[in-house]
Amino acid sequence: MQPDSRGYFGEFGGRFVPEVLVRALDELTRAVDEAFADQAFWREYDETLRDFVGRPSPLYRTQRFGSEQSGAPILLKREDVNHTGAHKINNTVGQALLARRMGKKRLIAETGAGQHGVATATVGAKFGFPVDVYMGALDVERQALNVYIMKLLGATVHPVTGGTRTLKDATNEAFRVWASEVEDTFYVIGSVVGAHPYPFMVREFQKVIGIEARKQCLERYGRLPSDVVACVGGGSNAMGIFAGFVGDDNVRLWGVEAGGDGIDTERTAAALGAGSIGVLHGSRSYLLQTAEGQVRNTHSISAGLDYPGVGPEHAYLKETGRATYVPMTDEQAVRAFYDFSATEGIIPALESSHALAFARELARERSADDLILVNLSGRGDKDIEQIRRR
Ligand SMILES: *Cc1c(COP(=O)(O)O)cnc(C)c1O
Repeated sequence: MQPDSRGYFGEFGGRFVPEVLVRALDELTRAVDEAFADQAFWREYDETLRDFVGRPSPLYRTQRFGSEQSGAPILLKREDVNHTGAHKINNTVGQALLARRMGKKRLIAETGAGQHGVATATVGAKFGFPVDVYMGALDVERQALNVYIMKLLGATVHPVTGGTRTLKDATNEAFRVWASEVEDTFYVIGSVVGAHPYPFMVREFQKVIGIEARKQCLERYGRLPSDVVACVGGGSNAMGIFAGFVGDDNVRLWGVEAGGDGIDTERTAAALGAGSIGVLHGSRSYLLQTAEGQVRNTHSISAGLDYPGVGPEHAYLKETGRATYVPMTDEQAVRAFYDFSATEGIIPALESSHALAFARELARERSADDLILVNLSGRGDKDIEQIRRR
């Protein structure tokens, strides 16, 4: 759905930012409106996704995963085969094209594990922008390979030493830098979070996943999936695939959050499952916070899901009942990671493994006529070292 003119999906979203950023967000909103109405803009986006990213990504029916149980077939939307190995590049291509159109001189981005930083550095190199990436100092240590890749791609990585030295601190720093250099700088946000128009804009750049998948499913199987399943960190791969099906009332939408050690424990990242309504990084949504409103420390085995907030449109889909959100624990995700690798010959990202773990359970409850569509948001090469050391 479209947010209202103030950027709200129901009671979620909006713009909770310092005065200096209001002008920048207004300028961005105008640029988004113009670009989205311009066919030439979408033509270049489509061509870049085709020739640089490798779209359309395949729709692939699993052969063996979960097949010890009877039940519904599981289909994968293969975002893992995109250039750079995940769905994030769809969004950074779109934002880079927008930055160029707006005459901006450089890109900045926050990153947690480094996946969004790499995707931003990649389009920086391609389109000729200098790129500054803000990354928690702890993550810089933990993700040395991605830091090196960003440098190879010509980006500068700035370690952020405040707070817990992780993603939320990096995001705060990126906002601060943007506020001080708004004129020439384009802030590339990595998920459907932040102040309006970011959640809407990022969803539009990820919607290609759902549009392609819907068409592929109809062409191949002559019907829509019964269920669509995606993991939810900030929520961009999920919003991307949901957007293709949200108007199809018979298609059930499932978002799978990172349960961590369990949503009743301190060590979780399930903002919708264990959080409450508040404001984080510029918008009103669910987040993990203490009774005093302090942002809680989160935990997930998967860095891409380890974020205390969630995009406002997901809060809206939860509130209206259009989508259902469920947690999967670290253990469940790791089991799916191993089983899926060994039965399908595809090593999934740990993030995507949360969706696979739930899809396997769901498949048992459905009949052979149903189809369960899973967004395989990324490949697992980046996670192998972590799994190997467990
Ligand atoms: C970053 C990432 C995610 C989580 O981000 P969303 O915005 O929730 O999609 C999920 N999967 C992979 C492979 C990622 O890199």
